[in-house]
Amino acid sequence: MHEWALAESVIKTAVEYAGAEKITKLKETGVVFGELQAIDKEIFIFALEELRTQFPAAKACKFRIIKQPAAFRCKACTREFTLKGLKKTKAEAEFIHFVPEMAHTFLKCPGCKSPDFEIIAGRGVSIKYMKGSR
Ligand SMILES: [Zn+2]
Repeated sequence: MHEWALAESVIKTAVEYAGAEKITKLKETGVVFGELQAIDKEIFIFALEELRTQFPAAKACKFRIIKQPAAFRCKACTREFTLKGLKKTKAEAEFIHFVPEMAHTFLKCPGCKSPDFEIIAGRGVSIKYMKGSR
């Protein structure tokens, strides 16, 4: 399952960082969760809470999910835009969330209507911060 693999890599990264910083007890980890990431948040959090018990440094760690909205930058006119406010049907929106690459099929720059843009935010999962004690 995708969620479990992701949760495991988040915890491993947090524990590695803790080790390098000589942190023995992680208290909180902020995980950035991209809007375009097609994973189930509930399962992801459940996986984090289950898997943390395997790592002494992360046993009591809380995981805070920080949602990151998707953002795009037009390659033609450099305008930046988000999914909000763009005209699209619900099915399209869901499809874009499911397959970020498909954004190019459904979205156009609201400024110059160019379909040539890059995704600058909202993909993937990353660690934003960690709190712990030595
Ligand atoms: Zn444009």
